[in-house]
Amino acid sequence: MIPLAQATAGESLLNWADLGYLIAAICFIMALKLMNSPITARKGNWISVVGMLFAIGVTFIYPMESGPHAGEPLSTSMPALNLGLMLGAVAVGSIFSVILSRKIAMTSMPQLVAALNGLGGGSVALVSLYEFMDAAHQGQVPPPVQAISTVLSVIIGTISFSGSIIAFGKLQEILPGRPMTFPGQKAFNGVLAAVVVGLALAILVFGQGLSIPLFSLLIVASFVLGISGVTPIGGADMPVVISLLNSFTGVSAGLAGFVLMNTALLIGGGLVGASGLILTLLMCTAMNRTLANVLFAGVGAPITGGGPSAFAGKQPKSYAPEDAAILLANAEHVVIVPGYGMAVAQAQHQVKEMATKLQSMGIDVKYAVHPVAGRMPGHMNVLLAEADVPYEQLYELEQINPLFPETDVVLVLGANDVVNPAARYDKSSPIYGMPILDVDKAKTVLVSKRSMGVGFAGVDNELFVYDNTAMIFGNAKTTVQKITQALDNY
Ligand code: NDP
Repeated sequence: MIPLAQATAGESLLNWADLGYLIAAICFIMALKLMNSPITARKGNWISVVGMLFAIGVTFIYPMESGPHAGEPLSTSMPALNLGLMLGAVAVGSIFSVILSRKIAMTSMPQLVAALNGLGGGSVALVSLYEFMDAAHQGQVPPPVQAISTVLSVIIGTISFSGSIIAFGKLQEILPGRPMTFPGQKAFNGVLAAVVVGLALAILVFGQGLSIPLFSLLIVASFVLGISGVTPIGGADMPVVISLLNSFTGVSAGLAGFVLMNTALLIGGGLVGASGLILTLLMCTAMNRTLANVLFAGVGAPITGGGPSAFAGKQPKSYAPEDAAILLANAEHVVIVPGYGMAVAQAQHQVKEMATKLQSMGIDVKYAVHPVAGRMPGHMNVLLAEADVPYEQLYELEQINPLFPETDVVLVLGANDVVNPAARYDKSSPIYGMPILDVDKAKTVLVSKRSMGVGFAGVDNELFVYDNTAMIFGNAKTTVQKITQALDNY
């Protein structure tokens, strides 16, 4: 509350602060809308940067709500330490993130998101914890909405923090990527979740006196729940889990917005929470899985069934890049299918060069982008955009599948699971039911990868030994470069 004596100055500042937060919120909403399409995504990113600048800037000049400096903007009369700490934190965070974002490989984005998300959840939990302790020290009993928001944001923020640490460890291969389970794990998690709910209710019902020890227990139980909730989830499902944890962090930040009466945090957190959940569900749909199946089925353990037998004793045909160039040069319709291997090889620029050459030879070239190709949603779109591949040449799964029977040559570049025909019929396969790109229906399929090795789901791909398929073994970038060179002969 702003003391009466300072009400006028404080209130007018509050109005400006609210206006600033409103602008920030509008920027965030516009940014999300623009990120809907690869054509406008970059603009969306910049608008969200502007929104964040407003949100941070206003927070610096926002009047203090209580204490000796109530109603005053931050100024030299404030304890210098606070301002110094805030600016120091901004400086350290900015330097760290600029270096990190310049260095990080696209293939490591999921673990970067996991790490940043975990830090977000952890900081939200700390802020709420501080508010709670502060109120308890002063003997204040917060109104019910604020008390519930505080407790919920601590629980969700802490789960997001510890769960994201495990997700990061798995993706960075510091921890085993496979599901880590023990007998009775589901029951253990159920009991732990009940303990968290019980502690939260006890804190809210018994009030401030009892709360600090209970609150500490709540944090410990939530922390363990985050760990034990994520350890049984397998590597291939980690991106979905990260997206869900991201949504958790958003929700906890939104709740912290209630606690701090901070509109920007409330709106920003709500947007992250909602968009994270939508993305999570979209990823589940793209893999034809339910969220419950991703979280509790323990999919991703090493697979034995459907392994070597997928090749049924057949040997793959192996072509040289020069052979592939002959087929491509004589084709009318070509479809390129990029996958995780293209990202690893960083072959997108060479792919664009090859496609441009084919087009200059009068050949129709399309790109087929599977929604979960690579390791995160939009992975392929980002890489192809980086190489300036025109958006109108990118086709989604539903658009391209009917066109495969009329396609002369499909060039699969480091994709595996997303073109595995077993997903259509093999009920024992972990990718059963996942909509795939029907490349096997094309006249000829050329697969560029380094070996007959498996993809992320850990299953062999029978496509590699189909009669209309030929393998081009080697690094995708080198293969594409050699094909482009060989095309000069036609
Ligand atoms: P996959 O992981 O199935 O296969 C990638 C293939 O790339 C490997 O088999 C590997 O074979 C090959 N490869 C690796 N490095 C190179 C290289 N330098 N040059 C050529 N080939 C290379 O990739 P997909 O994109 O087909 O499928 C993505 C998987 O990730 C799916 O299982 C999907 O469900 C999962 N997933 C994706 C999400 C997303 O949002 N994108 C989210 C959740 C899960 P080799 O070692 O023989 O070269």
